[in-house]
Amino acid sequence: MAIQVKSPIVEIDGDEMTRVIWQMVKDELLHPYLDMKTLYFDLHIKRRDETDDKITFDAADAIARHGVGVKCATITPNDARVKEYSLKKAWPSPNGTIRGILDGTVFRQPIVVKRIPPTVRTWKKPIIIGRHAYGDIYKNQEIRVQGPGRGELVFTPSTGAEPVRLTIQDFKGPGVLQGIHNTEKSIRSFAKACIQYAVSQHVPLWFGTKDTISKTYHAFFRDVFQEEVDKNRTAMDAAGVSYFYTLIDDAVARVMRHEGGFLWACMNYDGDVMSDMLASGFGSLALMTSVLVSPNGPMEFEAAHGTVQKHYYAHQKGQPTSTNSTATIFAWTGALARRGALDSTPAVSDFARKVEASVIETIEEGTMTKDLTLVCDPPAEGFVTTEGFIKAVRTRLEKKL
Ligand code: NAP
Ligand code: MG
Repeated sequence: MAIQVKSPIVEIDGDEMTRVIWQMVKDELLHPYLDMKTLYFDLHIKRRDETDDKITFDAADAIARHGVGVKCATITPNDARVKEYSLKKAWPSPNGTIRGILDGTVFRQPIVVKRIPPTVRTWKKPIIIGRHAYGDIYKNQEIRVQGPGRGELVFTPSTGAEPVRLTIQDFKGPGVLQGIHNTEKSIRSFAKACIQYAVSQHVPLWFGTKDTISKTYHAFFRDVFQEEVDKNRTAMDAAGVSYFYTLIDDAVARVMRHEGGFLWACMNYDGDVMSDMLASGFGSLALMTSVLVSPNGPMEFEAAHGTVQKHYYAHQKGQPTSTNSTATIFAWTGALARRGALDSTPAVSDFARKVEASVIETIEEGTMTKDLTLVCDPPAEGFVTTEGFIKAVRTRLEKKL
């Protein structure tokens, strides 16, 4: 008896090797067991080109309307891709477009497998990182100061009121100068998305800034977060979600001796740097998932890695590949579990957890793709093909259903 998925999931297909995996995952692990309707959007690079990228906008709107999406990796075209696929132009990154429409925050979540030990001994559970992806140094203005002079910070109100003028530095000689900003709207959306995701995952929420030094800028982030937490106290309490604010230095020190299992909200630069630290610390890009959370609730699940281009070229030549489908499978299970929670259909969420457990057991018992053999402990005896891995997961799943 197939398990009924009550409401549709927005399915966004993509490119290259991940598109190949996408079909295999559906054929082997989903369609045989689920009665599931998806709203299908094909974001293959040629389809985006044919529709002048309208398909990407339609997909994002569908997620906003239906609440849950799952996305395959897609090519972000550069000049080489424009040539390769004879494109009209280098269309913008679909992820950027979708993030913009959903006003979303991206959370990266590693999949923890015993056989792939994290570099940090104390890490036992995933540390989810949420990066504020607007402003600060990423939207700065900079001046290379050539000699003596005054660097100033000036704000001119649109009301015609007196400008606010502060001296940053009276330069005696050459130096550098930078101006940065953020907006209350963006910080608030970020805080809301972090709270949403912590509540959906039932994990504590951490946030840190350098408010001891930046008593206005960083302190504003701290205060906006606190206000949003206060507004959402009931939902957080109901989900058992605590909020912990500390100085960013202290947060970093604690992360290195914590067992994990929390969501770490980071300002833009901290998130940029720390997400790479965590990705490498947890073992493999192929074990990293990514969730886009809109402050109003909709979520889109995907693998953090790209389309695995080199493997696709080998696949096209008919050569066997050993591409890791773990993060793609977890994108699907994340979407299914979310759908199950929203629809109050525990059987769907339960199925998702069984698929995840099957993947983890498959790797832990030594059946893995080539990328993992390089980082696993104890060492693996060999590796399986792309298809071989998915079939091994199916064998374990069958026993659980
Ligand atoms: P990538 O597809 O993540 O692959 C980089 C390398 O990482 C691969 O060549 C492979 O190494 C390894 N790798 C990544 N995922 C793997 C997996 N599942 N299994 C095994 N190995 C894996 O990044 P890229 O080559 O820089 O980008 C390719 C295309 O993806 C680009 O067109 C880019 O625009 C797009 N992209 C899309 C997204 C997205 O849609 N979210 C994200 C990033 C990039 P080896 O070759 O050494 O085996
Ligand atoms: Mg980075």
